[in-house]
Amino acid sequence: MIENRHHDLAERLDVKDGLNLWRDWKWQIKHSIRDIPTFEKLLGIRFDAERREKLEATLARFPLSITPYYLSLIEVKDYANDPIFYQAFPQAAELEILPGDMSDPLAEDKDSPAPGITHRYPDRVLFQVSNLCSMYCRHCTRKRRVGDRDFIPGRQVLDMGLAYIRKTPAVRDVLLSGGDPFMLSDDYLDWILTELDAIEHVEIVRIGTRMPVVLPYRITGDLVEMLKRHQPVWVNTHFNHPREITASSRQALARLADAGIPLGNQTVLLAGINDCPRIMRKLVHKLVQNRVRPYYLFQCDMSEGLSHFRTPVGKGIEIVESLIGHTSGLAVPTYVIDAPGGGGKIPVMPQYLISWNTNKVVLRNFEGVITTYKEPDSYRPVFCDRDCDKCRLSLKLDEAEEYQALGIESLLADHDEALSLVPADTRRIDRRGDNGDGRSSAGRPGGNGLAGRLRRIFRRR
Ligand SMILES: *Cc1c(COP(=O)(O)O)cnc(C)c1O
Repeated sequence: MIENRHHDLAERLDVKDGLNLWRDWKWQIKHSIRDIPTFEKLLGIRFDAERREKLEATLARFPLSITPYYLSLIEVKDYANDPIFYQAFPQAAELEILPGDMSDPLAEDKDSPAPGITHRYPDRVLFQVSNLCSMYCRHCTRKRRVGDRDFIPGRQVLDMGLAYIRKTPAVRDVLLSGGDPFMLSDDYLDWILTELDAIEHVEIVRIGTRMPVVLPYRITGDLVEMLKRHQPVWVNTHFNHPREITASSRQALARLADAGIPLGNQTVLLAGINDCPRIMRKLVHKLVQNRVRPYYLFQCDMSEGLSHFRTPVGKGIEIVESLIGHTSGLAVPTYVIDAPGGGGKIPVMPQYLISWNTNKVVLRNFEGVITTYKEPDSYRPVFCDRDCDKCRLSLKLDEAEEYQALGIESLLADHDEALSLVPADTRRIDRRGDNGDGRSSAGRPGGNGLAGRLRRIFRRR
């Protein structure tokens, strides 16, 4: 059925020998559909003049690109309800920018110490190595970039990013993203990975790609052989709907998994596409069958032009509720909201801890059974003053990395005297004077006075 459609589409693209070329990823990219008339011709549909005018206006702002492969997954007869269609084809609603929508909601450009690098978390960076994608997802969080900077950053530009990673020993994990890193040639990607391999403190590399979904033929034997030489490399892909898991994408995933590359998946929760517990359950089951671990379920970001895709947070919680306990723990992704302004990913979950007292917690399970867990009567906590040599727990120090407790973690740490985290512009605290405790001499920062224990971390933008 799909194969027939491939044949049909290849013919409509007026390509001789189309079916043999169909599996050539470069052919697919060259024949990506970028305008509405071609789209109409290939699918045999026609939009009325009014709709077309709106679509053209949308494309002027956010361009269109669909691989013939991904296009072939659209159910033409019912395209108006098709999850593939809506991920690939524009809607006039993209031009409705709501107050609060942002072009860079995650402040990726602000937290960027070098070109292409976003350094947000202590030990890992995002490295955008390509501005190209084979398909432009309509729900792209980096919609601001799509199309208008369609180029591959040159070596000099990437060298600046690499230099930042090289001189920042805290970075032990590098996420290659974009665009799609697999839009780069094997050789170019090989060069980047070789440079990263040579950096001693980089322990793992992750590649975020949508190729197994929108252009599975990109996962060639050569690509996989090359990746294999740079282990440990993790690949994270982006399936949003069970219909995207086809024979071709299965084959691409199998190639990667057979090469020993661990696979994860990030799904974006999208209204009208996958905001349904049954669809999500089908998706995560198909993923684990193909050795892909559902990693994150993302709340849709507040990027401009995405408001029609956004759901209430409650929909995500409802979906997670329908998964935890009901199906394999392995198949349950972590549902996260990426904090607007650059706070990073924040996990959100249904509540399972209902109440507690000093020696018991009350919990509920997925069936609604309410249960108790009795805490131990005697527990000898290990006071941690960071003097690991004298501790009864053993940690081989030459393997241990020193790290500083951050944020909420520091409030829990024995060795840290921080008492509270306080917004930097808290007027009540400001009234107390310089040291925060109303006295001028007591409480040197870091000392035992209250001031040293109030950590002012929040700042108004
Ligand atoms: C998502 C993300 C990461 C990786 O986060 P994990 O939770 O480790 O997967 C790193 N940097 C940035 C900027 C990110 O957005």
